[in-house]
Amino acid sequence: MITLKGAVVSAKIKEEVTELLRELAGTIPRLAIVRVGERPDDMAYERGALKKMENFGLQAESFSYPADISDEDFQAEFKKINENPGIDGILLLRPLPKQIHERDIERMILPEKDLDGISPENIARVFAGESEGFAPCTAEAVIEVLKANDISLTGKRVAVVGRSMVVGRPLSMLLLKENATVTICHTRTKEIEKTCQNAEILIAAAGQAKMIDPSYVGADAVVIDVGINVDNDGNLCGDVDFESLNGVASMATPVPGGVGAVTTAVLAKHLVMAARKRRGSRA
Ligand code: NAD
Repeated sequence: MITLKGAVVSAKIKEEVTELLRELAGTIPRLAIVRVGERPDDMAYERGALKKMENFGLQAESFSYPADISDEDFQAEFKKINENPGIDGILLLRPLPKQIHERDIERMILPEKDLDGISPENIARVFAGESEGFAPCTAEAVIEVLKANDISLTGKRVAVVGRSMVVGRPLSMLLLKENATVTICHTRTKEIEKTCQNAEILIAAAGQAKMIDPSYVGADAVVIDVGINVDNDGNLCGDVDFESLNGVASMATPVPGGVGAVTTAVLAKHLVMAARKRRGSRA
Protein backbone atom coordinates (compact mmCIF):
# COMPACT_ATOMS: atom_id res chain seq x y z
CA MET A 1 0.00 0.00 0.00
CA ILE A 2 1.35 3.40 -1.00
CA THR A 3 1.20 6.16 1.63
CA LEU A 4 -0.11 9.42 0.16
CA LYS A 5 1.76 12.06 2.13
CA GLY A 6 0.19 15.47 2.66
CA ALA A 7 3.57 17.21 2.70
CA VAL A 8 4.18 16.35 -0.96
CA VAL A 9 0.83 17.86 -1.96
CA SER A 10 1.41 20.88 0.27
CA ALA A 11 4.78 21.50 -1.43
CA LYS A 12 3.08 21.52 -4.84
CA ILE A 13 0.51 24.04 -3.60
CA LYS A 14 3.35 26.15 -2.18
CA GLU A 15 4.82 26.44 -5.69
CA GLU A 16 1.46 27.73 -6.95
CA VAL A 17 1.23 30.19 -4.05
CA THR A 18 4.77 31.46 -4.69
CA GLU A 19 3.89 32.07 -8.33
CA LEU A 20 0.69 33.93 -7.41
CA LEU A 21 2.63 35.98 -4.84
CA ARG A 22 5.10 37.09 -7.50
CA GLU A 23 2.22 38.69 -9.38
CA LEU A 24 1.30 40.67 -6.25
CA ALA A 25 4.59 42.55 -6.59
CA GLY A 26 5.74 42.72 -2.98
CA THR A 27 2.45 43.11 -1.12
CA ILE A 28 2.00 40.29 1.38
CA PRO A 29 -1.56 39.01 1.92
CA ARG A 30 -2.78 39.00 5.51
CA LEU A 31 -4.97 36.38 7.19
CA ALA A 32 -7.10 36.91 10.31
CA ILE A 33 -7.70 33.79 12.40
CA VAL A 34 -10.70 34.35 14.64
CA ARG A 35 -11.03 32.19 17.75
CA VAL A 36 -13.51 32.27 20.65
CA GLY A 37 -12.37 30.39 23.76
CA GLU A 38 -9.41 28.04 24.04
CA ARG A 39 -10.56 24.64 22.78
CA PRO A 40 -7.48 22.45 22.31
CA ASP A 41 -8.46 21.41 18.74
CA ASP A 42 -8.96 25.09 17.77
CA MET A 43 -5.58 26.00 19.31
CA ALA A 44 -3.87 23.15 17.44
CA TYR A 45 -5.45 24.16 14.13
CA GLU A 46 -4.51 27.81 14.75
CA ARG A 47 -0.88 26.89 15.45
CA GLY A 48 -0.75 24.79 12.29
CA ALA A 49 -2.29 27.56 10.18
CA LEU A 50 0.07 30.24 11.58
CA LYS A 51 3.08 28.02 10.88
CA LYS A 52 1.91 27.27 7.34
CA MET A 53 1.32 30.96 6.52
CA GLU A 54 4.81 31.80 7.74
CA ASN A 55 6.28 28.92 5.75
CA PHE A 56 4.46 30.11 2.61
CA GLY A 57 5.65 33.73 3.12
CA LEU A 58 2.23 35.07 4.12
CA GLN A 59 1.09 37.16 7.10
CA ALA A 60 -1.36 35.92 9.71
CA GLU A 61 -2.74 37.33 12.92
CA SER A 62 -4.86 35.69 15.63
CA PHE A 63 -7.89 37.49 17.04
CA SER A 64 -8.99 35.64 20.17
CA TYR A 65 -11.92 36.32 22.47
CA PRO A 66 -13.05 34.87 25.80
CA ALA A 67 -15.41 31.87 25.63
CA ASP A 68 -18.14 33.86 27.39
CA ILE A 69 -18.11 36.90 25.07
CA SER A 70 -21.66 38.06 24.35
CA ASP A 71 -23.23 37.62 20.93
CA GLU A 72 -23.49 41.40 20.54
CA ASP A 73 -19.84 42.05 21.46
CA PHE A 74 -18.55 39.28 19.21
CA GLN A 75 -20.60 40.53 16.26
CA ALA A 76 -19.15 44.03 16.80
CA GLU A 77 -15.59 42.64 16.91
CA PHE A 78 -16.16 40.45 13.86
CA LYS A 79 -17.57 43.42 11.92
CA LYS A 80 -14.34 45.35 12.56
CA ILE A 81 -12.20 42.50 11.19
CA ASN A 82 -14.56 42.01 8.26
CA GLU A 83 -14.32 45.68 7.31
CA ASN A 84 -10.59 46.09 8.00
CA PRO A 85 -9.00 46.93 4.63
CA GLY A 86 -5.65 45.51 5.84
CA ILE A 87 -7.10 42.01 6.11
CA ASP A 88 -7.46 39.95 2.94
CA GLY A 89 -9.06 36.83 4.34
CA ILE A 90 -10.68 35.37 7.45
CA LEU A 91 -10.61 31.91 9.03
CA LEU A 92 -13.26 31.52 11.73
CA LEU A 93 -12.63 28.59 14.06
CA ARG A 94 -15.87 26.72 14.73
CA PRO A 95 -18.08 25.62 16.35
CA LEU A 96 -18.63 28.86 18.26
CA PRO A 97 -19.94 28.84 21.85
CA LYS A 98 -23.73 28.43 22.15
CA GLN A 99 -24.49 32.09 23.01
CA ILE A 100 -23.14 33.27 19.65
CA HIS A 101 -25.44 32.96 16.65
CA GLU A 102 -23.13 31.29 14.15
CA ARG A 103 -25.68 31.74 11.36
CA ASP A 104 -25.49 35.53 11.71
CA ILE A 105 -21.70 35.42 11.35
CA GLU A 106 -21.97 33.16 8.29
CA ARG A 107 -24.27 35.77 6.73
CA MET A 108 -22.07 38.67 7.81
CA ILE A 109 -18.68 37.47 6.54
CA LEU A 110 -17.81 39.07 3.20
CA PRO A 111 -17.77 36.27 0.60
CA GLU A 112 -14.52 37.63 -0.85
CA LYS A 113 -12.82 37.28 2.59
CA ASP A 114 -14.54 33.97 3.41
CA LEU A 115 -11.57 31.65 2.76
CA ASP A 116 -13.21 28.56 4.31
CA GLY A 117 -16.49 28.69 2.39
CA ILE A 118 -18.96 29.30 5.20
CA SER A 119 -21.03 32.14 3.67
CA PRO A 120 -24.29 31.29 1.88
CA GLU A 121 -22.85 32.74 -1.36
CA ASN A 122 -19.78 30.51 -1.33
CA ILE A 123 -21.74 27.41 -0.32
CA ALA A 124 -24.25 28.03 -3.11
CA ARG A 125 -21.41 28.25 -5.62
CA VAL A 126 -19.99 24.92 -4.47
CA PHE A 127 -23.39 23.25 -4.74
CA ALA A 128 -23.99 24.82 -8.17
CA GLY A 129 -20.65 23.44 -9.38
CA GLU A 130 -19.23 26.89 -10.09
CA SER A 131 -15.49 27.59 -9.95
CA GLU A 132 -15.85 31.13 -8.53
CA GLY A 133 -15.67 31.67 -4.77
CA PHE A 134 -14.08 29.58 -2.03
CA ALA A 135 -14.99 26.00 -1.13
CA PRO A 136 -14.39 24.74 2.43
CA CYS A 137 -10.61 24.14 2.67
CA THR A 138 -10.77 20.54 3.91
CA ALA A 139 -13.15 19.45 1.14
CA GLU A 140 -10.91 21.08 -1.46
CA ALA A 141 -7.83 19.53 0.18
CA VAL A 142 -9.18 16.05 -0.59
CA ILE A 143 -9.51 16.96 -4.27
CA GLU A 144 -5.95 18.37 -4.21
CA VAL A 145 -4.60 15.11 -2.73
CA LEU A 146 -6.28 13.06 -5.47
CA LYS A 147 -5.20 15.38 -8.30
CA ALA A 148 -1.62 15.73 -7.07
CA ASN A 149 -1.32 11.94 -7.10
CA ASP A 150 -2.83 11.63 -10.61
CA ILE A 151 -5.86 9.74 -9.34
CA SER A 152 -8.56 10.49 -11.88
CA LEU A 153 -12.14 10.97 -10.74
CA THR A 154 -14.10 10.88 -13.97
CA GLY A 155 -16.60 8.03 -13.88
CA LYS A 156 -15.15 6.60 -10.66
CA ARG A 157 -17.29 5.13 -7.90
CA VAL A 158 -16.54 7.27 -4.84
CA ALA A 159 -18.05 6.73 -1.39
CA VAL A 160 -17.96 9.55 1.16
CA VAL A 161 -18.63 8.60 4.79
CA GLY A 162 -20.08 11.70 6.49
CA ARG A 163 -22.62 14.32 5.43
CA SER A 164 -21.66 17.40 7.46
CA MET A 165 -21.65 20.88 5.93
CA VAL A 166 -17.97 21.17 6.91
CA VAL A 167 -16.68 18.16 4.98
CA GLY A 168 -19.02 15.44 3.62
CA ARG A 169 -21.60 17.47 1.71
CA PRO A 170 -19.37 20.10 0.06
CA LEU A 171 -16.78 17.42 -0.72
CA SER A 172 -19.44 15.31 -2.44
CA MET A 173 -20.32 18.31 -4.62
CA LEU A 174 -16.67 18.93 -5.54
CA LEU A 175 -16.31 15.23 -6.47
CA LEU A 176 -19.46 15.45 -8.60
CA LYS A 177 -17.97 18.47 -10.38
CA GLU A 178 -15.02 16.20 -11.29
CA ASN A 179 -17.53 13.74 -12.81
CA ALA A 180 -17.24 11.08 -10.11
CA THR A 181 -20.24 8.90 -9.25
CA VAL A 182 -20.73 9.78 -5.61
CA THR A 183 -22.45 7.85 -2.83
CA ILE A 184 -22.85 9.69 0.49
CA CYS A 185 -22.95 7.42 3.55
CA HIS A 186 -23.98 8.42 7.07
CA THR A 187 -25.17 7.04 10.40
CA ARG A 188 -28.46 5.77 8.91
CA THR A 189 -26.91 4.09 5.86
CA LYS A 190 -27.80 0.39 5.72
CA GLU A 191 -25.12 -2.14 4.82
CA ILE A 192 -22.55 0.65 4.87
CA GLU A 193 -19.62 -1.78 4.65
CA LYS A 194 -21.00 -3.24 1.40
CA THR A 195 -21.54 0.22 -0.11
CA CYS A 196 -18.04 1.32 0.83
CA GLN A 197 -16.49 -1.90 -0.46
CA ASN A 198 -17.99 -1.18 -3.86
CA ALA A 199 -16.15 2.15 -4.07
CA GLU A 200 -12.94 2.64 -6.04
CA ILE A 201 -12.18 5.65 -3.86
CA LEU A 202 -13.31 5.73 -0.23
CA ILE A 203 -13.26 8.97 1.74
CA ALA A 204 -13.75 8.83 5.49
CA ALA A 205 -15.07 11.98 7.21
CA ALA A 206 -17.12 10.53 10.07
CA GLY A 207 -15.09 11.59 13.10
CA GLN A 208 -14.97 7.98 14.40
CA ALA A 209 -11.54 6.75 15.44
CA LYS A 210 -10.29 3.86 13.26
CA MET A 211 -13.81 2.97 12.11
CA ILE A 212 -12.72 2.06 8.58
CA ASP A 213 -11.13 -1.41 8.58
CA PRO A 214 -10.76 -3.95 5.74
CA SER A 215 -14.48 -4.82 5.95
CA TYR A 216 -15.20 -1.38 4.37
CA VAL A 217 -12.50 -1.45 1.71
CA GLY A 218 -12.62 -3.00 -1.77
CA ALA A 219 -9.54 -4.56 -3.36
CA ASP A 220 -7.03 -1.92 -4.50
CA ALA A 221 -9.23 0.98 -3.42
CA VAL A 222 -7.77 4.42 -2.72
CA VAL A 223 -8.59 5.49 0.84
CA ILE A 224 -8.55 9.13 1.96
CA ASP A 225 -8.81 9.79 5.69
CA VAL A 226 -10.20 13.19 6.72
CA GLY A 227 -10.83 12.26 10.37
CA ILE A 228 -8.89 13.81 13.24
CA ASN A 229 -9.60 11.91 16.45
CA VAL A 230 -7.93 10.87 19.66
CA ASP A 231 -7.78 7.11 20.32
CA ASN A 232 -8.16 5.31 23.67
CA ASP A 233 -4.44 5.82 24.40
CA GLY A 234 -4.69 9.57 23.83
CA ASN A 235 -2.93 9.48 20.45
CA LEU A 236 -4.03 11.39 17.36
CA CYS A 237 -5.63 9.09 14.77
CA GLY A 238 -7.90 9.17 11.76
CA ASP A 239 -11.17 7.47 10.88
CA VAL A 240 -9.16 4.74 9.16
CA ASP A 241 -7.35 1.84 10.80
CA PHE A 242 -4.37 2.56 8.53
CA GLU A 243 -2.16 -0.45 9.30
CA SER A 244 -5.02 -2.92 8.79
CA LEU A 245 -5.39 -1.83 5.15
CA ASN A 246 -1.98 -3.16 4.12
CA GLY A 247 -2.51 -5.66 1.32
CA VAL A 248 -6.10 -4.46 0.81
CA ALA A 249 -6.04 -0.81 -0.33
CA SER A 250 -3.71 0.39 -3.09
CA MET A 251 -3.10 3.81 -1.52
CA ALA A 252 -4.10 5.62 1.66
CA THR A 253 -3.46 8.91 3.45
CA PRO A 254 -2.06 8.74 7.00
CA VAL A 255 -3.19 10.73 10.08
CA PRO A 256 -1.33 12.83 11.06
CA GLY A 257 0.55 13.81 7.91
CA GLY A 258 -2.24 13.44 5.35
CA VAL A 259 -5.21 15.66 4.49
CA GLY A 260 -4.66 17.99 7.50
CA ALA A 261 -1.36 19.29 6.10
CA VAL A 262 -3.07 20.04 2.80
CA THR A 263 -6.03 21.87 4.38
CA THR A 264 -3.84 24.73 5.61
CA ALA A 265 -2.02 24.84 2.25
CA VAL A 266 -5.41 25.31 0.54
CA LEU A 267 -6.16 28.05 3.08
CA ALA A 268 -2.92 29.79 2.03
CA LYS A 269 -3.85 29.48 -1.64
CA HIS A 270 -7.30 30.96 -0.96
CA LEU A 271 -5.65 33.85 0.93
CA VAL A 272 -3.45 34.80 -2.01
CA MET A 273 -6.35 34.45 -4.42
CA ALA A 274 -8.47 36.72 -2.20
CA ALA A 275 -5.69 39.32 -2.01
CA ARG A 276 -5.23 39.26 -5.77
CA LYS A 277 -8.92 39.80 -6.35
CA ARG A 278 -9.19 42.63 -3.83
CA ARG A 279 -6.14 44.45 -5.17
CA GLY A 280 -7.27 43.89 -8.75
CA SER A 281 -10.69 45.35 -8.03
CA ARG A 282 -9.15 48.45 -6.43
CA ALA A 283 -6.82 49.10 -9.35
P1 NAD B 1 -19.41 15.87 12.09
O1 NAD B 1 -19.48 15.17 13.41
O2 NAD B 1 -20.07 17.19 11.91
O3 NAD B 1 -20.03 14.91 10.98
C1 NAD B 1 -19.74 13.54 10.93
C2 NAD B 1 -20.58 12.88 9.86
O4 NAD B 1 -20.23 11.51 9.82
C3 NAD B 1 -22.08 12.95 10.09
O5 NAD B 1 -22.70 13.34 8.89
C4 NAD B 1 -22.49 11.53 10.46
O6 NAD B 1 -23.72 11.14 9.86
C5 NAD B 1 -21.36 10.69 9.90
N1 NAD B 1 -21.05 9.57 10.77
C6 NAD B 1 -20.65 9.61 12.08
N2 NAD B 1 -20.47 8.37 12.55
C7 NAD B 1 -20.76 7.52 11.54
C8 NAD B 1 -20.77 6.12 11.43
N3 NAD B 1 -20.43 5.32 12.46
N4 NAD B 1 -21.12 5.57 10.25
C9 NAD B 1 -21.45 6.37 9.20
N5 NAD B 1 -21.46 7.70 9.25
C10 NAD B 1 -21.12 8.27 10.41
O7 NAD B 1 -17.88 15.94 11.74
P2 NAD B 1 -17.10 16.84 10.62
O8 NAD B 1 -16.99 18.23 11.08
O9 NAD B 1 -17.68 16.57 9.28
O10 NAD B 1 -15.66 16.19 10.69
C11 NAD B 1 -15.44 14.83 10.37
C12 NAD B 1 -14.05 14.45 10.78
O11 NAD B 1 -13.13 15.22 10.03
C13 NAD B 1 -13.70 14.74 12.26
O12 NAD B 1 -12.83 13.74 12.73
C14 NAD B 1 -12.98 16.07 12.17
O13 NAD B 1 -12.08 16.24 13.26
C15 NAD B 1 -12.25 15.93 10.89
N6 NAD B 1 -11.89 17.18 10.23
C16 NAD B 1 -10.65 17.23 9.68
C17 NAD B 1 -10.24 18.38 9.03
C18 NAD B 1 -8.87 18.38 8.38
O14 NAD B 1 -8.33 19.43 8.11
N7 NAD B 1 -8.30 17.23 8.08
C19 NAD B 1 -11.07 19.50 8.97
C20 NAD B 1 -12.37 19.40 9.50
C21 NAD B 1 -12.76 18.23 10.13
